[in-house]
Parts: sequence; C-alpha cells; structure tokens
Amino acid sequence: MPQRADATHNKACFRGIFFWRLCSLLWTAPNSLVGLILGGVGLLSGGGVGRCPGALEFWGGLPAIVLKILPLRGGAHAITFGHVIIYRSRTLREAIRKHELIHVRQYERLGPLFIPAYLAASLVALLRGKDPYRDNVFEREAFAASEAPYMPFPEELLAEKNHEGLASSPSPTHKPLS
Ligand SMILES: [Zn+2]
Repeated sequence: MPQRADATHNKACFRGIFFWRLCSLLWTAPNSLVGLILGGVGLLSGGGVGRCPGALEFWGGLPAIVLKILPLRGGAHAITFGHVIIYRSRTLREAIRKHELIHVRQYERLGPLFIPAYLAASLVALLRGKDPYRDNVFEREAFAASEAPYMPFPEELLAEKNHEGLASSPSPTHKPLS
C-alpha cells in the first residue's frame, strides 16, 4: 500500500509540475514569439541556434548587428524575449547565460507585463538621475544573481565575438547544441 501511495503522490507531483510549466510557457508565449521571429531572422542571415535548460538560444546574423548598435555603451550583449535568448555571438553564451536566465524568470513572473515594467523601471531610474540600464531593478536583480560583467566587455571577448558573431560562414554556428 505505501508503494501505491508513493506512486500516486509522484504522479500528482508530475502533473503539478507539468501544469505550472505549461502555464509558464503560455504566459510568456507572446514574448517568446517575438524572440522566435527575431531568432528566425538570425538563422536566415547566418546565425545559429541551440538550447539550454529553460530557454532556446540564438546568436549571430542580423539581430547581432542590431544588438551591437543599441544605445548602450558598446551595444548590448544579448536580449531576452520570454523563453528565447538572442546573443550577439555564440561565444557570449557561457559568460552571460545566467544573467539572461534571470530575465527568463522575470518574464515567467510578469508575462506580457514584463517589457512595460522594464521600461517603467528604466524611466524611474532616469528620473532619479541614475543609469537607466544598470540601476533598472530588473537588471540589478539579474546582475546580482549572475555576477555577469557590466559593459564594456573584456577586449579579448569583444574581439572574439565580433569575429564569430558577425561572420557570414554558416558553420559551425548553425550546429545545434547537443
Ligand atoms: Zn540584463
């Protein structure tokens, strides 16, 4: 009997986890769709795709060029939409994945409200005379939890990512991660 009770309990736990995972995917779906479209553009323009626990990852291609010219000092390393992370280059993934996964968790909490809340947090920081990026509460949480480096990135990594992220050769960046 105890074994049967354990099996029933495990089944209920699994269903609960599956239910909340499904809710999380649906809640972030509008944002993830934006990420998938941008990632698709990246793939069509020489970028790559892979995955990590909790997110789909894209790098390189046209989105990388856009990230480079974003109005941040040195451009942006990456941008997250729901469960999709778009990096400037494949090289950057290991260095800043933890940071971006915090943003994924923030999307899971706020869903479609995340982007308006993020922009409002930047505005609040700006009105207080602070940096709209570094002093944004969502970025502060991500930096505190991930220990990712602030801008500008180390020179050697910048050189590497510029070489890899903006290269037109389709391989090896097209290879999905195992
Ligand atoms: Zn961030």
